[in-house]
Amino acid sequence: MESLTNKKKVLESKPLNFWERAYLPAIAQGLSITIKHFFKKPATIRYPEEKREFSENYRGLHSLKRDEEGRERCTACGLCALSCPAEAITMIAGERQAGEEKLYREEKYAAVYEINMLRCIFCGLCEEACPKEAIYLDGDIVPSDFLRKDFIYGKDKLVEAPLNQ
Ligand code: SF4
Ligand code: SF4
Repeated sequence: MESLTNKKKVLESKPLNFWERAYLPAIAQGLSITIKHFFKKPATIRYPEEKREFSENYRGLHSLKRDEEGRERCTACGLCALSCPAEAITMIAGERQAGEEKLYREEKYAAVYEINMLRCIFCGLCEEACPKEAIYLDGDIVPSDFLRKDFIYGKDKLVEAPLNQ
């Protein structure tokens, strides 16, 4: 049976030869590696001017959709907020008033709709739960910011632009 005592390995330092002492071969080798990388395709991109293509199932920023007549699709049923595991959605329903038929599709609409992007884990459950196809995670990535309050996105950022814009 092999002994369990510590094995000792004695390393002997060999004296450097002339070229090793001159460091020239090592410098040339280092330079050749650097020059080789000049001609390679860079692994990095100049974000945010350049952007990578996202995969088809990428989940980005949420957008609240409009129907073909430009009305907000959301009918404030609250299923998205209920299904959100991160409790990131705050939704307060409002009642459509006379004359607002061109703005909102049904009698109820989301008077307040906010998503806390710091809580959101981009799971997509809100999108799956929505019976009106009103919310999709088809936007860009959430941009960085300095204040926590600026990560709470309201309707001004979430509802897609009206058709005539
Ligand atoms: S993507 Fe998921 S975590 Fe984010 S708001 Fe929707 S349900 Fe909540
Ligand atoms: S986005 Fe969809 S699930 Fe959420 S409140 Fe509006 S209609 Fe309901």
